[in-house]
Amino acid sequence: MVPPGSRQALSNPDNTVGSFAESDPVKLPDLLTVFAKRAERLRALAPGHELEGFLRMLAALVAAQHEALAGLPPGTLPGPTKGAPLDPASLKRDESWRVALARILERIDVAGLPEAALKARTALAAASADDLEASADRFLQGNVKPSQAAEMVFVAAALQVAWTRMAALLELAQLDPADSGQCPACGSPSVAGMVAPGGTKFGHRHLHCSLCATSWRYVRTRCVHCGSTDKISFRQFAGTSYLRAECCEACQGYSKVFYIENARTLEPLADDLGSLGLDVLVGEEGFARVANPFVLGVMAEPDGNN
Ligand SMILES: [Zn+2]
Ligand SMILES: [Zn+2]
Repeated sequence: MVPPGSRQALSNPDNTVGSFAESDPVKLPDLLTVFAKRAERLRALAPGHELEGFLRMLAALVAAQHEALAGLPPGTLPGPTKGAPLDPASLKRDESWRVALARILERIDVAGLPEAALKARTALAAASADDLEASADRFLQGNVKPSQAAEMVFVAAALQVAWTRMAALLELAQLDPADSGQCPACGSPSVAGMVAPGGTKFGHRHLHCSLCATSWRYVRTRCVHCGSTDKISFRQFAGTSYLRAECCEACQGYSKVFYIENARTLEPLADDLGSLGLDVLVGEEGFARVANPFVLGVMAEPDGNN
């Protein structure tokens, strides 16, 4: 089913990560391809990877996200707003995300799911609307305990479906493409940055939203957390020239930057998950970031209350 008003969002099959026009300060997600390409990339990253089981589980989850998109009710979009129109803190959530969750739980291929994920699936399928809304609030506020990690992966996936669908239906004119580390559509942090060739000889960087899959241009060599351009340094694994961690001494934050010119099949969220080893490396140096939504509970500090 095509949601009303989404003709434009659904009519651009050539909307790939590598095809940024230089003039795109903001690019809204393409519903036809966003989750399908992500699932494909996760499946490609998995074989032989030290996190193979985890990546295969997420590939199944993202494939279910793709299927869930097609079954959403029409939903609602916000009217004119100041700031990010889909900011979860100010937007009144409709039930679309819970419809997406039910569909993900029903459609996901359970063959490769670990025990914890199977238990979480059963618990969520039986949960009340109120409990689900409370879980959504906890995820969106970044208040996830390690004991909730398995359930939160499904909750995050369903919220991504709802937010990505809304973002695809926005008009670019509604968005303020200010040079910010936060998504212009929903205010969420980015999951990674991508540098594509073009523009200056060094190329443009686009950040990719962790929630709604919108991407937006952001100055290179500038901290995505505090905006500092001083004391930025880079870390990378030997032999991986397509990926660096941009580390900021001012706020001890870091973000990942992928270089599309060297690896055209990259997908920001999938490749972030495929390179968690770099997070361990820079984490040991004391740098921190906002975690990928699918590792939020896993990477949270143990709080002893579980
Ligand atoms: Zn967003
Ligand atoms: Zn900083």
